[in-house]
Amino acid sequence: MQDNRQKQTSPCSIKNMTVPEFITCTKCGDELELWTDEDETICQSCGHKVFRKEAIIH
Ligand SMILES: [Zn+2]
Repeated sequence: MQDNRQKQTSPCSIKNMTVPEFITCTKCGDELELWTDEDETICQSCGHKVFRKEAIIH
């Protein structure tokens, strides 16, 4: 029971972390960030909604 503190430092929760991926807007070609837990994002340049399926992931 006393070694519970040490186990909390193990990186087993890294699977649940979200990280940004860089994709290209299908309308204006600008570079956007799409987080790994999101399926779509709004382009800040043209306002186009870019879906993960349509976008090119770098
Ligand atoms: Zn755009």
